[in-house]
Amino acid sequence: MDLKRVYLFREGNATMKDLLGGKGANLAEMSNIGLPVPPGFTITTEVCNEYYANGGKMPAGLMDSVREAVKDVEKLMSRTLGGSTKPLLVSVRSGAKFSMPGMMDTVLNLGLNPTTVKAMVDETGNKRFVYDSYRRLIMMLSDVAFGLSKHEFDDKIFKEYKQKVGAESDLDLDADQMEEISQLFLKHVREKTGREFPTDPFEQMEVGIEAVFKSWNNDRAIVYRRQERIPDEIGTAVNIQAMVFGNAGDDCGTGVAFTRDPSTGEKAIYGEYLMNAQGEDVVAGVRTPVPISALQKQNPQVFDAFMDTANKLEKHYRDMQDLEFTIEHDKLFMLQCRSGKRTGPAAVKIAVDMVEEGLIKKEEALQRVTGSHLDQLLHKRIDPAALDKAKPLAKGIPASPGAAVGQVVFDADVAAEAKAGTLQGDVVIGKKVILVRDETNPDDVHGMLASQAVLTARGGKTSHAAVVARGFGIPCVAGAEALNVEVHEEKFTVGGTVVRQGDVITIDGASGAIYLGELQLIEPEVSGAFGTLMSWADDYRTMKVRANADNPRDARQAIEFGAEGIGLCRTEHMFFEEDRLPLVQELILTKDESVRQQMLDKLQVVQQQDFEGIFEAMDGKPVTVRLIDPPLHEFLPSFEELVRETTEIKTRIHMGQKGLEKDLETKMKMLGEVESMKEQNPMLGLRGVRLSIILPGLVIMQTRAILQGAAAVAKKGMKVFPEIMIPLVSTVNELRVVQNALEAEAKKIVKEQGVDIPYMFGTMIELPRAALTAGEIAQYAQFFSFGTNDLTQTTFGYSRDDAEGKFLQQYVEQKILPRNPFETIDVPGVGRLMKIAVEEGRAAREGLKCGICGEHGGDPESIDFCQSINLDYVSCSPFRVPIARLAAAQAALRTKVKVAVDK
Ligand code: ADP
Ligand code: MG
Ligand code: MG
Repeated sequence: MDLKRVYLFREGNATMKDLLGGKGANLAEMSNIGLPVPPGFTITTEVCNEYYANGGKMPAGLMDSVREAVKDVEKLMSRTLGGSTKPLLVSVRSGAKFSMPGMMDTVLNLGLNPTTVKAMVDETGNKRFVYDSYRRLIMMLSDVAFGLSKHEFDDKIFKEYKQKVGAESDLDLDADQMEEISQLFLKHVREKTGREFPTDPFEQMEVGIEAVFKSWNNDRAIVYRRQERIPDEIGTAVNIQAMVFGNAGDDCGTGVAFTRDPSTGEKAIYGEYLMNAQGEDVVAGVRTPVPISALQKQNPQVFDAFMDTANKLEKHYRDMQDLEFTIEHDKLFMLQCRSGKRTGPAAVKIAVDMVEEGLIKKEEALQRVTGSHLDQLLHKRIDPAALDKAKPLAKGIPASPGAAVGQVVFDADVAAEAKAGTLQGDVVIGKKVILVRDETNPDDVHGMLASQAVLTARGGKTSHAAVVARGFGIPCVAGAEALNVEVHEEKFTVGGTVVRQGDVITIDGASGAIYLGELQLIEPEVSGAFGTLMSWADDYRTMKVRANADNPRDARQAIEFGAEGIGLCRTEHMFFEEDRLPLVQELILTKDESVRQQMLDKLQVVQQQDFEGIFEAMDGKPVTVRLIDPPLHEFLPSFEELVRETTEIKTRIHMGQKGLEKDLETKMKMLGEVESMKEQNPMLGLRGVRLSIILPGLVIMQTRAILQGAAAVAKKGMKVFPEIMIPLVSTVNELRVVQNALEAEAKKIVKEQGVDIPYMFGTMIELPRAALTAGEIAQYAQFFSFGTNDLTQTTFGYSRDDAEGKFLQQYVEQKILPRNPFETIDVPGVGRLMKIAVEEGRAAREGLKCGICGEHGGDPESIDFCQSINLDYVSCSPFRVPIARLAAAQAALRTKVKVAVDK
């Protein structure tokens, strides 16, 4: 026999989701465990693929198998499809492996035609119910199969009819009126399609099945799959199931429920139902549904039966269930169950509660919470009640989670002044502002820090705004392209709305939505369950988790979130601060060796203070400090800006303005310097270790500042473990030269200070050549830290900002790349280099400590990869530390236990 295309419910089970889809597999499972499920069968997902491989034609022989299966249902129901007595009606329901709510099509009441309508009226004596079902069938099947919009039936013909007869809801219509509506619907089909609505039940069924296959590739389904990373090639199954009727009277109804509260996780049934209603009526807002608790009073027997079933299903699946049910004349039927979607707080609470109830093991609890669940937990959210009513102005890319309310400002200085309360005579009166820009750059950082959130019209998840905001734990919506930002006009426009400086907006960094006005926010719920879950994560993980932190404030934050050290402390951020930048500029520009030394001495004092603060905050934990990395011209004004300024001064002198000559001279001098330092490609230019070779004074100074800072803290009785990291090494010779010089200096300091400091020297592995010669490099380096941002740039030969702005998104859409390699490590390329480096590095130096400090260190999938190549630790921004702790535990578990996670 060839391919089995059709499975009766009793032939399937919950493990067969690939073949039967989630809905079909769970319908089968529920039937098998003896729950009241109307009989039916499932056409497999393979048939959907066959349909498409066939160029969109129904596979030959399919309908024969369907007829066979229908016979089985007819027997179980003692009814006949199309029969002139006791006719069988069925539903045709879509259902892919992963739930795609509302994305695909479902048709109810198939099998109704003039003959069966009459038979059903005779049988039930309830003409109203029969025509109510009939009009629904005509509407649904025409919508999905004949391209006649549901709205034309529902919002026009049906609504107008109700108005005409003065009916408020569908319940006010009587039998004859329902019949008349069915006739109006049939007429509409005739007029619009030029043909009769099909009366043959098998024709209806075939058309319905094909419509479900087609709906797999409708636009909203495609968009949804992309969003949720559901593969396009898995196809949907089709379920055909005997109808039970929630619309056959006042002792009937239909509803949906969760076995626990999906927004808080509280252990209490949560749901809604409607009496005398069918299918989607509950969610479609036809009438106002009633909370499930009311069923207890209205019909205690059915309620008890329902609670029984709900409990049984939760125990059986060992997870919170999302249920769909129908009551037909006081009898309960189950129509769907699946693991319920839930918010972050609910995910954590349910997972922990279920362990305490003995339903699942700790290992499973850890697997059930995701990084984005935790992300929600650690940030403010928009109150779901407020969210229901609000309509977004626009949507951007959710770039850093959390919600925020604030007055719009367009300038980083204005933001900073607003925060400080020094802003005067302006429309911005509060301290809470949201910085809105086309895109941000390093000059805006102080303003971002002072803002509640950042909103940009350009750039993606790894744009400057996004990276910095995530680092600081500030919500960010990036790339909201509908926004027309006019910084100089102090306004942005979107659609027809103008938003000016001082206007209040709310943004949601988790969804990317932007709202006008203030929405109610709720505080993060870091409940007891969160602490419990994190402690379990720590028990299971084998990798350490560190944080990237550049100052004492971030270091303390990191500790609070459970960091076990600092994996990357970037010293250059310290140079940008107001009191230091002039010193750095002078240092770069001077030709006078003694002036240079003066500047270095001054800088050493402030840098040492920074390090002391960080070492103190990290008492006893290792701190990796990276020596200066960026090209020096980043500390100078930009070339373009200087050209503009000098031209302007020249023009003014030309127009006769006096006293500007000195100014011009300084600017021209600076311009000359900047021009001489200009590089074709700064990313690949004079930076990192190369700088240390050309200009050794700077890193010697930094080494002194680090070790003297360490000594000062050690003298206070605290432990310090400084790890000095030399960036951008491509050949061992670079490392040798620089490290020898620095080590000599280090020895000197230790001697001077008279305290023992267990310092180490190591390097970043962020260039392919370094990874490939890791064995040589490990002769000097006492530790490796993978700088995967640069390593990804240089492995692909992409400049990140250019790639993200210009082509990466398209690459991902066209499946040239499976995903953005700056978000998740590219395992075959970048990952392979890392693996080689770890193996060859450790072969040369036993137990070589290896970690990662690129942005990937906070990405769960990349963390999983890090585990697989045996890194000692991952390091990420402080706000992602809990996520990394969880991901590290999951990665450790993945190799040990295989848990059936129902999806
Ligand atoms: P979706 O995947 O969009 O949820 P479903 O296939 O679950 O679509 O169908 C939607 C609703 O239609 C169900 O929740 C249920 O109320 C109703 N329904 C589907 N099949 C039947 C049936 N055989 N009998 C009664 N109601 C049904
Ligand atoms: Mg459903
Ligand atoms: Mg780098």
